[in-house]
Amino acid sequence: MLNLLDADKKEIECFFEAIGEKKFRAAQVQSWLYRGAMNFEEMTDLSKTLRRRLDEEVRKGTISLGGITRLAALSSSDKSTEKFLFGLSDGNAIETVLMRYKYGNSVCVSSQAGCRMGCVFCASTIGGLKRNLTPGEITAQVTAVLRHIKDEKGYSLSSKEERIGHIVIMGTGEPLDNFDNVKRFIEIVSDPHGLAVGLRNITVSTCGIVPMIGRFAEELPQVNLAISLHAPNNAVRSTLMPINRKYPIEVLMPACEDYVKKTGRRITFEYALAADRNDTEQQAEGLIRLLKRYFREKNGTAGLCHVNLIPLNKVEETGLEGSDRRKAETFCSLLTAAGVPATIRREMGADIHAACGQLRLSENNPDKTNI
Ligand code: SAH
Repeated sequence: MLNLLDADKKEIECFFEAIGEKKFRAAQVQSWLYRGAMNFEEMTDLSKTLRRRLDEEVRKGTISLGGITRLAALSSSDKSTEKFLFGLSDGNAIETVLMRYKYGNSVCVSSQAGCRMGCVFCASTIGGLKRNLTPGEITAQVTAVLRHIKDEKGYSLSSKEERIGHIVIMGTGEPLDNFDNVKRFIEIVSDPHGLAVGLRNITVSTCGIVPMIGRFAEELPQVNLAISLHAPNNAVRSTLMPINRKYPIEVLMPACEDYVKKTGRRITFEYALAADRNDTEQQAEGLIRLLKRYFREKNGTAGLCHVNLIPLNKVEETGLEGSDRRKAETFCSLLTAAGVPATIRREMGADIHAACGQLRLSENNPDKTNI
């Protein structure tokens, strides 16, 4: 089965030649897919006969148009955030989130079905890793969301009114555990003839698979890197994130320092604040010391790094609670006062199970609101 969103132009050309069609059909079909087309009927510059022929190939299982189908969608009360549950051809389900900011549309994609990293606060890890997503299955999340926006606004597929400006690979899965497919996905979505998302507007978030951070810096130097740190020391981090036993902080931080040196780019540290686990003033001081050890500039601040604080989204299964607003603000101001750039990330979509993997788990929960 050839997933047309996985395939490059050459492979689609081969497919068209094999069915006795002209090669240039490949570019036509690709262009429709990147505009959000969901079936061949919508590809109006293909003849009716060809469209029917292609439908037949989909039925026969020779080709697919992305390989995902929408199972559910939830919208936050203020409409700024929408979360989608997509089904894969093998029955697994993945989640994708659309965030509408003033500066444009941002999509958070999943890179794996499930996850094997075992972070204790994270819903995606419950049930373990099912499998890696293909580049086409990751791309299909973006095109499906783009299509959703166009439909909602009544824009035609060819309209340039709405586009996806930013992509974060922060949904279910560990992107650096599926590096080759994620890299290919980034190449597809950043192609100027396709979705044309700027490399600098794409962010990969990792729990800290150290050997892959070096590869990331080499092969994707323009893409943003975020590290899920969540603790200032090994004692706390190892209780939250099993990966820390393999790549502890004294191994992770030099890799981050190398990344910054190699790319000249700022690195982001994510820090989910869990009440009484990692949110005390002493822990803020510990984090300041840690980041200054690796990122200190001549003026004494921690230069090319940024801490994204987010009160932990409660996942029933984990028993952990998010810190309250006041605690989060104190933590944040301790960092900034010490010259460590930090912000509290705006919580969007807490009312729609926005935290990683939560929608998948709540699929059987009757209080979900389908739209
Ligand atoms: N595996 C990657 C990317 C997916 S998780 C990583 O670990 O970075 C995306 C981010 O959401 C990570 O920072 C992760 O630690 C965080 N996260 C997971 N569950 C969360 C929760 N319940 N509340 C807040 N953040 C959470």
